Amino acid sequence: MDDALRELYQEVILDHSRHPRHYGPLAGASHKAEGYNPLCGDRVTIYLKLDADGRVADIGFEGKGCAISQASASMMVEMLKGRTAAEAGRLMQGFLHLVKGEAVGDLAEDDLERLEVMGGISAFPMRVKCATLAWHTYKNAAEEGQTAEGAA
Ligand code: ZN
Repeated sequence: MDDALRELYQEVILDHSRHPRHYGPLAGASHKAEGYNPLCGDRVTIYLKLDADGRVADIGFEGKGCAISQASASMMVEMLKGRTAAEAGRLMQGFLHLVKGEAVGDLAEDDLERLEVMGGISAFPMRVKCATLAWHTYKNAAEEGQTAEGAA
């Protein structure tokens, strides 16, 4: 990666950590999960409003922790809004490969560009869990985090 691109990516990450998107509890969330990364102390709560077919109709997050963990959560919620469960799963798999420096697989170019902002993390194995915390928490919320309101 060239220096200019790296600098741009750092700016994107800082911007998301300072001005997180879709931040705060989501009224009427059907699913919710809390995630914790003990290696760094990062915390993320993901709120979801899933359609009957599992599409992410709305999503929000709250959290506390390092810039990587919070920026990753902010970028993730921005990407996942409106996605079907299958699309979200593909993005998550792609992201998990990316941060380990592995081949990402078949993703839309636009999605790949947005995920690649975090690609530099693969050079810092200790920080990978910071970057993946939000994604794992999203998966837990979607699969096991049905709220009382979601069950109604
Ligand atoms: Zn962290």
